[in-house]
Amino acid sequence: MVCPFGGNDCVTSVIDSRKNNEGIRRRRECSTCGQRFTTYEKADINLMVLKNSGEIEEFSYEKLYQGIENAFGGIDISAKKLKTLVDNVHKEIKSHGKKVKSKVIGETVLSHLKGINEVAYLRFASVYKEFSDVTDFEKEAAEFN
Ligand SMILES: [Zn+2]
Repeated sequence: MVCPFGGNDCVTSVIDSRKNNEGIRRRRECSTCGQRFTTYEKADINLMVLKNSGEIEEFSYEKLYQGIENAFGGIDISAKKLKTLVDNVHKEIKSHGKKVKSKVIGETVLSHLKGINEVAYLRFASVYKEFSDVTDFEKEAAEFN
C-alpha cells in the first residue's frame, strides 16, 4: 500500500476495517511517517447479468471487449480507442446497479457505437439485438441515411 503522505517506501498497516453496502472502509496507519488515512475498497466482481433465457451469469469484461472488438473486425480503430469505448460502456452498465439485463448491455453498446462507427454499429446490432425480421434491420440502417 502506497502511503499518501510518504510514498512507496512507507510501511502501512490496517488498524480498522468496516464493511458497508458501499464496500470496505479501512483505517490505515503508516508506521514510517505516523500518518493515518482511510481507504475504500469496492469489489468489481458482483455485477450480474440477467440473460433473456432467465439465467444469471457473472458479468465478463472480456466478453464485452470481445463482442465490441468483433464488431470492429476489419475496421481501423486503435487499441486505445477501443479500450476507452469498452470502458465507457462498462461504466454505464455498472451505473444500472448490480444486476443488469443482457438486453440493456446490448443497447448500451449500441448507443455508444452509434456515434463512432456505422458499420460496427450495424454489425453489433445484427448479433445482439433481437431483430424479429429483416425489416427491423433495414429500419436501423435507414437511420443513417
Ligand atoms: Zn508514510
